[in-house]
Amino acid sequence: MTVLSYTDRLSQAASFLRENDDFLVVSHIQPDGDAAGSTFAMAWMLLALGKRFTLINEGHMPEKFMYMTHSQLRILNHETEPPERKFGRVISVDCADFDRIGKVSACFEENVQLLNIDHHATNDDFGAVNLVRADAAATVEVLYDLNVELGLPFSHELNVCIYSGLLTDTGGFRYSNTSPKVMQIAADMLSRGVKGYELAERLLESLTMPQVTILKSALATLGFAHEQQAAWLSVSLEDLARSGASSDDLDGLVNYPRNIEGVEVGMLFKEKKPGVIKVSLRSAGKVDVAELASRFGGGGHVRAAGCTVLGTLDEAIKQVVEEVGRALA
Ligand code: 5GP
Ligand code: MN
Repeated sequence: MTVLSYTDRLSQAASFLRENDDFLVVSHIQPDGDAAGSTFAMAWMLLALGKRFTLINEGHMPEKFMYMTHSQLRILNHETEPPERKFGRVISVDCADFDRIGKVSACFEENVQLLNIDHHATNDDFGAVNLVRADAAATVEVLYDLNVELGLPFSHELNVCIYSGLLTDTGGFRYSNTSPKVMQIAADMLSRGVKGYELAERLLESLTMPQVTILKSALATLGFAHEQQAAWLSVSLEDLARSGASSDDLDGLVNYPRNIEGVEVGMLFKEKKPGVIKVSLRSAGKVDVAELASRFGGGGHVRAAGCTVLGTLDEAIKQVVEEVGRALA
């Protein structure tokens, strides 16, 4: 197997876009700011290339990300409006592995050609063309490079998407992935007129009433183990229903246990359905949580990862916390 350089991969990805048409663009299930930003950034790039495309996600795209698009750019929810046809050309963005595409893969043709654009170290190059850069802070960082490679203009709409993805995946330019290159791209976006403070207010600061209500009930579940090096919060379906919050409103909750002094691994356990628990893992540095998550069939980054565990909330907490104990030992 030949190992391609990033430059080679950029030119391969550019050719894939130039030589094909009628793309399906998909990000991972339960999209975050980078997944949404990458989906819409890709859309603006494809528009600039004069290509036809369809945007889709397994579920619903949170309303809070819809400022990155406009009425021309619809995004389909596969659960409620699956496309009536199949696609032979797919672009996946911010998906660490094929499973993260979710049920959208049902509308891929059998001999589908997939362009995989991502920044997760655990990405297994599942595409026909793979534009993966593990040291990029966000998938939008890779898309920035791709836009340069394609020689396309940086429209205001595209810039807003790029800045949004960088802002959210770096936790507001604070996490260890905040590289000089991130700051250079962000500076470029600001100098082109992006209002960084408005995006920060919208994506990182503002809280809805359901979000405060769920925060209040989640903080009451705070648990510790392993000499307080592990800490977690949990959210049951009942808590969610009572608060009026949706699972989109749980973004960032995992930072509360993670931020406690002395905590090495912070966790959030979310009951998705009875018996299905989604786990978010954050590390202060000692533990590789991507590796830990992979023991449960998940993945992600060294300091931020996730997985799904079957069982009750208590069972999932017990299993994952035990594994964290082994990783800490
Ligand atoms: P979060 O906890 O915010 O949902 O995810 C943190 C990081 O882990 C993200 O980069 C996300 O892509 C990755 N991640 C979360 N859940 C999963 C999972 O089930 N499988 C894989 N491969 N990655 C995940
Ligand atoms: Mn990302």
